Amino acid sequence: MQSKLPDTGTTIFAVMSSLAEECNAINLSQGYPSFNPDQALLDLVTHYLNSDGNQYAPMVGVPKLRRAIAEKVALLYGREIDPDHEITVCDGATEGLFSAIQATVHPGDEVIVFDPAYDSYEPAIRLAGGTAVHVPLVETDENPDYHIDWDRLKAAINERTRLLIFNFPHNPTGVILNASDLDTLAEIIRETDAYLLSDEVYEHIVFDGAQFHSFIRHDELWERTFVVSSFGKTYHATGWKVGYCVAPARLTEEFRKIHQWVCYAVVTPIQHALGDYMSQSPGHYAELPRFYAAKRDRFCELLKDSRFTLRPARGTFFQILDYSKITDIDDVSYAKQLTREIGVASIPISVFCEQPLTSRQLRFCFAKDDKMLEQAAAKLCQL
Ligand code: PMP
Ligand code: GLN
Repeated sequence: MQSKLPDTGTTIFAVMSSLAEECNAINLSQGYPSFNPDQALLDLVTHYLNSDGNQYAPMVGVPKLRRAIAEKVALLYGREIDPDHEITVCDGATEGLFSAIQATVHPGDEVIVFDPAYDSYEPAIRLAGGTAVHVPLVETDENPDYHIDWDRLKAAINERTRLLIFNFPHNPTGVILNASDLDTLAEIIRETDAYLLSDEVYEHIVFDGAQFHSFIRHDELWERTFVVSSFGKTYHATGWKVGYCVAPARLTEEFRKIHQWVCYAVVTPIQHALGDYMSQSPGHYAELPRFYAAKRDRFCELLKDSRFTLRPARGTFFQILDYSKITDIDDVSYAKQLTREIGVASIPISVFCEQPLTSRQLRFCFAKDDKMLEQAAAKLCQL
């Protein structure tokens, strides 16, 4: 068979999680919590599983869940969204990203992604007949956090640029954008026809008092943006694969034309449960920054005497550790070596980049109970 994705292997998340299992290693690779969702949410799911909520949901999502999303968006991002024409519940953020890309990108189009780029973007772009144009995030002496080099972005944009994909808080580096970044972006794309896709799955996980700036809040950007988010990260339920896309009505109309053929609709009892839970426990996501900052701080404290250099984590539940003081071997080999030899699995950063990396960095997920973090850190400190 002639492959449609000839040079695509198996995603690093599946590779590292299965290696971790094979080696009985502590799995800090694939990003998922080691703890369960709130019992009240689990009880709601059980309730709907045992009632008549087990048949197909509406194609665009259960109305009360879409209403709850609209209420949250109005409260947090200051925009009144029409739940009937501007919100679609998706089969995880992954499907939302895929459908937005298929809705937008035509053969020959270019799509800008920022490296390190989450691994599902480029295959979806290629399947739409487009080409990914990789713009690396940079570290400089004035700003050692990974950040966008606006001149490089400007240079990458041309008349074939159909879409730009953003992901802040950023997986894997944990960096965020500030309000002036969104203004700079608006200025750069003002004269173009490009659309924007903002992957905001970590929208509620930002630290140290920083504010998250959703593309929904920005009047000018909003007009051309698909915002995709996921309940998996926010409610400690990655296995449910439920997410959503918020976009202006004319974009949502095209989005739904694809969504209906990818999965038609999303798991019904969980949509009902999430809709109720969002209304009953609106404070849940407000607790997440403190909850995850404590885990980040604990993990970093445990590693302070190690030979790793800790990169600043401004958001998400990932910590980047630089191992250049320990060895010069490449990150894919080192991630596998650590899994096999010391029993801690992580994610190499280079798999998210087009250009080979000179830096030596691995990503560790700290969405784990303290015991796991302590055991992993003790092993890492032996290096
Ligand atoms: N985008 C990013 C940046 C992610 O880290 C993930 C993983 N949760 C996804 C999208 C996919 O989310 P979901 O599991 O809801 O499909
Ligand atoms: N988003 C998760 C991560 O970054 C993985 C999701 C997946 O396995 N596809 O680790």
